[in-house]
Amino acid sequence: MLGRLARWLRIMGFNVEYAASSLSDTEIIGKCKREGLFLLTRDKELHGRYSLSLLIKSQDHKEQISQFLSTFSVDEKLLFTRCTECNHLLEKKETADLEGYIPEGVRERFSTVLYCMNCGKYYWEGDHFNKIVEFLRGMGIEA
Ligand SMILES: [Zn+2]
Repeated sequence: MLGRLARWLRIMGFNVEYAASSLSDTEIIGKCKREGLFLLTRDKELHGRYSLSLLIKSQDHKEQISQFLSTFSVDEKLLFTRCTECNHLLEKKETADLEGYIPEGVRERFSTVLYCMNCGKYYWEGDHFNKIVEFLRGMGIEA
């Protein structure tokens, strides 16, 4: 349930993890401290043990985002710098070098795309991107 919120926060540039059941509380907190991660959790005790955490109550991702943004502020410079899937930082790639890796139409429209070297995902400013920008603006963010 917190995966969707995590993806949105990554779009906004937050280094964010959500509590996975496969790790113990101590392991989760250790990982978050080492990596400077924001932690999303529904566990009150876990929340109490780590200051960069948010105790999520709502089931609705818009309400969850509002709750996050009322506690932590967005740095607009960091928008679209992180992979939504794996949280790794993205890097710019020249589309001229990407023949066969991304659709031809994308290579024609854009001179650069963003690339995650951790999971291999590419990002570009297509229709989906425009919807994301619209959503962020709706949340009061200057995207
Ligand atoms: Zn990735």
